[in-house]
Amino acid sequence: MKALVLILTLLSSTAFASGTWTYWVHLKAKDSKTRSEISKFIHIDQVIDDSVYAVVNEHDYKELKKNFSKLLVDHHPYKEILPTTDMDEFEFPSGDEKFHTYQEIIDKIKELTRTYPNLTEELTIGNSLEGRNLIGIKISGAKNPNNKFFIPGIAFLGAHHAREHLSVEVPIMLASYLLENYNKDARIKNLVDNREIFIVPMVNPDGAMYDIKGKKYKSWRKNRAQNRNGTSGVDLNRNYSFGWGTGGSSTSPGSDVFMGPKPFSEPETLAVKEFVEAHANIRVLLSFHTFSELILYPWGGKYDGVGGKDQQVFEKMAQTMSKWNRYKPQQASDLYIASGDTCDWAYGTQNIFCFTFELSPKSMWNGGFYPGAKVIDKTFQANVNPALYLIEHAADPYAVLNN
Ligand SMILES: [Zn+2]
Repeated sequence: MKALVLILTLLSSTAFASGTWTYWVHLKAKDSKTRSEISKFIHIDQVIDDSVYAVVNEHDYKELKKNFSKLLVDHHPYKEILPTTDMDEFEFPSGDEKFHTYQEIIDKIKELTRTYPNLTEELTIGNSLEGRNLIGIKISGAKNPNNKFFIPGIAFLGAHHAREHLSVEVPIMLASYLLENYNKDARIKNLVDNREIFIVPMVNPDGAMYDIKGKKYKSWRKNRAQNRNGTSGVDLNRNYSFGWGTGGSSTSPGSDVFMGPKPFSEPETLAVKEFVEAHANIRVLLSFHTFSELILYPWGGKYDGVGGKDQQVFEKMAQTMSKWNRYKPQQASDLYIASGDTCDWAYGTQNIFCFTFELSPKSMWNGGFYPGAKVIDKTFQANVNPALYLIEHAADPYAVLNN
């Protein structure tokens, strides 16, 4: 009898399950102004010449058809997102198991802190909405902890966005790389001994795990906030306070770029804010995202540059790093306006030189958010030198103007 009930349950949850759909869209957008109009409704995945492309959820698809029908060149159903059950496990689809689940990130950080107790400290910067610890690792060989303020700090963040799983791999691999090479490479030893390096590889664990639940990707972007109207999720990279809600984000809870009911409404962004504010030695911050192969710097929320000497520092650093990873350096708003992101807040309120890397692949046609495990190693390799460069210049970012 039990077996029959189980079979019936399985049948009803698989054979007859119907999901929601994502849609592939291509719109004409001749300039950044037009792109910024569109980015109030959807997340633009890719900009090529006078076109933008994206995979959007049902809510945003309807909004696009309502508001931009004249610009829509092509659109079609892309992928059905099947519902999951409580029984489903959090594991990557087959072939992609090399990516770290939330539990595997915890295990990895515990392993590193066990192996290198003198150089590491496990961090918990807060809790996610569903109660997961927002964990990270501090790496430092600095010997004068009482003089903390004067040890230059740098922060690396991953996975503000759920489906951007590669943005978890690069920072966790960076942690391993720094520790494994500490005794082999004099440059790394020197950097680790003279910096505090904070790495939080998975800012949005609820979203990231939802995205892989039942071993099926869901193109999920936001966190898992339960919104008033029954929809889920806030776009964490539109939820920071600086310039919040001034463009390139939506007040509609069903949108993939929903800004949230107020700045820092989400425990994940609030945790980043409080952590950064509590560590005044952080001078440089790198937030990893995917995809497009870009190096972005403020402002994202307005077309103006930051101006002055700081503008020169951002440009010099971005151009220098692009020589290693071959990513395109540009001001974030050159693509389209997006307000309430990490970097506008970090620079605008904390004077932190903050960069967003949009990691590989270059385009939707090379895998988009799901390029497969084969790209992990080469994406990390491409970004080792940029990361070391930022760690080095966290001591005095303005020094880059002298050479
Ligand atoms: Zn992102």
